[in-house]
Amino acid sequence: MQENKSDIDDLLLKEGVKRTKHRIAILEILEQSETPLTADEIFLILKENNTSIWLSTIYRTLEMLTEKEVVRKSTIMGEDKARYEIKQDAHKHCFVCVTCHKMIPLMDCPLEEFEEKLKDKMDFDVTGHNLEIYGYCHDCKLMKR
Ligand SMILES: [Zn+2]
Ligand SMILES: [Zn+2]
Repeated sequence: MQENKSDIDDLLLKEGVKRTKHRIAILEILEQSETPLTADEIFLILKENNTSIWLSTIYRTLEMLTEKEVVRKSTIMGEDKARYEIKQDAHKHCFVCVTCHKMIPLMDCPLEEFEEKLKDKMDFDVTGHNLEIYGYCHDCKLMKR
């Protein structure tokens, strides 16, 4: 736990963001989550932890952290709410169920080799990528039958 805290501190310091109680609380939740979260989900977790915060404050904080590149914002196909995750060097990809919207983190990135090839072939400096894989999760697959 102690270590996580200083990681967030370092990140905020690096991007020149002042640490506040709310920012730290939101980033701690994102750090502990296996998958990107919506503002509503963060709100519910904070509420469970007895942290009083307005949903609008969470939105505002997330927008600010996205602008400062501390957090990455993405939208999943078929969902109208944005999801947020901490921007890290070691990035994650997810499998997304189109029925229940469950997100299952994938252990590795299939694109690293492809990026290398692109770099040489297209003379293109790659700075990042997005990848989500859609389908039916185990439970929804059974329901479909
Ligand atoms: Zn499902
Ligand atoms: Zn990747």
